[in-house]
Amino acid sequence: MQQITKNIYTETQIRGCDPSMVFTSEGAVFIDTAQWITNLEQMIAFAQEKCGSIRYLINTESHIDHIFGNHWLKKAGATIIGQEKILDSFFKIPPSFNMTTHDYNVDIIRRQDPTALNRMPSEKEYIVAKPDITFGDNLTLKLGSHTFRCVHTPGHSPEQTSVYVPEERCVFVGDNIFNDCQIWLHSVDFDDLFKSLDWLNGLDVDYIIPGHGPVRGKECIVQNKQFLYDWLATVADGINKGWSKEECIARINFADRCPVDIGQPECMEYIQTNNVRISYDYLMRKRDI
Ligand SMILES: [Zn+2]
Repeated sequence: MQQITKNIYTETQIRGCDPSMVFTSEGAVFIDTAQWITNLEQMIAFAQEKCGSIRYLINTESHIDHIFGNHWLKKAGATIIGQEKILDSFFKIPPSFNMTTHDYNVDIIRRQDPTALNRMPSEKEYIVAKPDITFGDNLTLKLGSHTFRCVHTPGHSPEQTSVYVPEERCVFVGDNIFNDCQIWLHSVDFDDLFKSLDWLNGLDVDYIIPGHGPVRGKECIVQNKQFLYDWLATVADGINKGWSKEECIARINFADRCPVDIGQPECMEYIQTNNVRISYDYLMRKRDI
């Protein structure tokens, strides 16, 4: 675990998202959750020891690498918060994965955290930990001397949420930012994402805690935009050459640019294929307008 500021800890070195914690004088607030049972249990124990109680969990999105641990946080006493659209896709994985979400989770734990497999709850027990509180545009939480501004910042997903904590000069942005690793575009809305990144750029912060990869300053916003533009420009170039979508998928690839986030190299082809497909569909829609 990495300490970012006096009161903020995050974990960037495990498979899954960067689960984080903010310690306040009135208890801990988690932002997203680890996808490892052992790690989840360690973070919860650490928060309870340092901070007394766990008050809230804020989910930045519905994807399983962010909500995997809701079950454990709920049991530890957290009230769960999420943007209202999170309920549309909560606990769902892409149909192309060809298995139930619960089986998918069990498979991940069996491969990566096998000694904890006996602590994986049943499907019936597991799916109940949906957000207790949902919001539309934004929600402000005050806890001790800390402010948590949860802002709907769609882009990577329709429900995407950023959590701005001004007292720590820090913002948690979930998967609107990927640092030093492949960007997943499978559920992106490009127009929303560029708007949200511009909003992010207006914040007075020192630290951006991304969904995946290391913590950076605001320079990572431009780097992410550049990667997005590279996807769009390269696919646009293919379209201009008369390539079909399948030809674009076969010929365009940014796999050599950076790795997939820790522990999931097997996802590289899925990411490349989907990123071309999504970019192609977006550009063709724009051309029709
Ligand atoms: Zn993610």
